[in-house]
Amino acid sequence: MLQHDVIIVGGGLAGSRAAVEIARTDPKLDIAVVAKTHPIRSHSVAAQGGIAATLKNVDSDDNWQAHAFDTVKGSDYLADQDAVALLTQEAPNVVIDLEHMGVLFSRLEDGRIAQRAFGGHSYRRTCYAADKTGHAILHELVNNLRRYSVTIYDEWYVMRPILEDGEAKGLVMYHIEDGHIEVVRSRAVMFATGGYGRVFNTTSNDFASTGDGLAMAALAGIPLEDMEFVQFHPTGLYPVGVLISEAVRGEGAYLRNANGDRFMENYAPSKMELAPRDITSRAIATEIRQGRGVGSDGSAGGPFVHLDLRHMGRDKIMSRVPFCWEEAHRLVGVDAVNEPMPVRPTAHYSMGGIPTNPRGQVRSSADGLVEGFYAAGECACVSVHGANRLGSNSLLECVVYGKITGASVAQDVQKRKFSDVDEGKYLEEAKQQVRELLDRSGKYRIQEVRQALQDCMTEHCGVFRAEELMQQGLVRLREIEEQVQQVYLDDSGTLWNTELVEALELSHLVVVAKTILTSALNRRESRGAHFREDYPTRDDENFLNHTLAYYSPAGIDIAAMPVTLTMFEPQERKY
Ligand SMILES: Cc1cc2nc3c(=O)[nH]c(=O)nc-3n(C[C@H](O)[C@H](O)[C@H](O)COP(=O)(O)OP(=O)(O)OC[C@H]3O[C@@H](n4cnc5c(N)ncnc54)[C@H](O)[C@@H]3O)c2cc1C
Repeated sequence: MLQHDVIIVGGGLAGSRAAVEIARTDPKLDIAVVAKTHPIRSHSVAAQGGIAATLKNVDSDDNWQAHAFDTVKGSDYLADQDAVALLTQEAPNVVIDLEHMGVLFSRLEDGRIAQRAFGGHSYRRTCYAADKTGHAILHELVNNLRRYSVTIYDEWYVMRPILEDGEAKGLVMYHIEDGHIEVVRSRAVMFATGGYGRVFNTTSNDFASTGDGLAMAALAGIPLEDMEFVQFHPTGLYPVGVLISEAVRGEGAYLRNANGDRFMENYAPSKMELAPRDITSRAIATEIRQGRGVGSDGSAGGPFVHLDLRHMGRDKIMSRVPFCWEEAHRLVGVDAVNEPMPVRPTAHYSMGGIPTNPRGQVRSSADGLVEGFYAAGECACVSVHGANRLGSNSLLECVVYGKITGASVAQDVQKRKFSDVDEGKYLEEAKQQVRELLDRSGKYRIQEVRQALQDCMTEHCGVFRAEELMQQGLVRLREIEEQVQQVYLDDSGTLWNTELVEALELSHLVVVAKTILTSALNRRESRGAHFREDYPTRDDENFLNHTLAYYSPAGIDIAAMPVTLTMFEPQERKY
């Protein structure tokens, strides 16, 4: 049986930053990072616009309290304010630390790190590396993993954590290259498995963002927190859905409808295009619904709106947001220097996730913890984003909570011994699961069932939600769940069987989808990204709580957990 003191699932920003912190804290610890992709191909690498921190390089009045307030207001008062305080206080330190590791941030004339405006932030505080910020940061972090001799298992698919007697003892993983399965024993397990954008049919996320970590935790009896809060980014490139960074609006681009009007004036007159994402996405979706969207021939009534960069000029476009220009040019043939880009909302980010306390320890309930189990980054919910995340706060969360969680692991693991693990039992169960999939005669192709699931979630649990629509969605999901049990594979081999991985991912997508839909049905109010047409206002009296959803194949039980309010009283949210 393989054995490491600490095993981290996920090689993105959160997992890599945690590994670096553990190695720095106690160089004697034996650390492993497992990823189903190569770590450098984690979705973090695609992050574009930047990372928020009150360095005050551009706006000298900025301070962490203002950053905390913007974040809490952006969250529609659902964020836990103790966690937000840590996030915003630590931000300048972690960014300077990244700089010392060698991250190539864009610069001001005087050589200090440049900072730009971002939606919902009241000062220019987003640090960036052109529009390739994730790329710049992840490369340095992964280089550091090698420097600290962290063992990397790349292209291993983790099938389940081993949780027994209220503690984490290791995990089971499948080698995509040759199909062999290993049980790994460890003194601590950390999940940093990223988001679930692939639950929807139009997303900015990569193919690997299938919510595995969330589903594996749920199947092991861990509740999932605030899953109803799905961020739809306002500017997905139409029709492909890939992201056109908010940095483009941060640098001054306009949103226009079919009449050429800057319609944000009617939705958020003071912030205009830099309103938070929930508000901007709803505004775009409303324009399209009311017939002011643009069609492919430029006529009204079409399925997208325009993102207009033309007034910014070629030099600014090519120096500040070159990657976004390239995406539109390569994918839809639009030269944004001379033409507006077609955009509409795209599923982007998961505000909810595996509940953790501010040390990164996974919660088993509102007041219990799982020993030796940790989570950070997009798969976790510590909750700094509440009902709606502000742009450039996610990379920050990965780095701050990656660091904090790494420090907790390094400290706690000193007191934890390796547990006895019944390797034979876990191996046999995993082999059985794989064999059953490979041998199945089945009726459906993976692709058709996945598409049905994604269409169902987009139609029944998208930007606008209502009771009846979601009830219908749940019925449809139950049918899809049965189809998942009847998918068959063409490839029955063991070498690079990516179809098998897709089948495992599909079974995870359906768990995540059901949890999102059930949590959304339960929240009979509108808050942040969760908008109910049948309950269009926020209801603090009944719903100023986190949702905890406990999954079981028979159904999902919903419980509530209080929100931590330490600094700011809830107010009406206006921009
Ligand atoms: C296009 C795009 C642009 C963005 N731009 C910004 C931005 O400018 N600023 C910002 O703050 N945020 C941005 N975000 C959000 C931010 O990038 C992500 O929230 C963040 O990078 C997530 O990092 P992570 O470490 O949690 O997970 P990820 O980077 O998604 O990494 C997940 C890791 O888990 C591994 N994994 C998952 N499941 C398994 C399994 N079963 N077995 C083994 N390994 C597994 C994967 O292989 C991967 O290594 C953007 C997101 C997207 C999609």
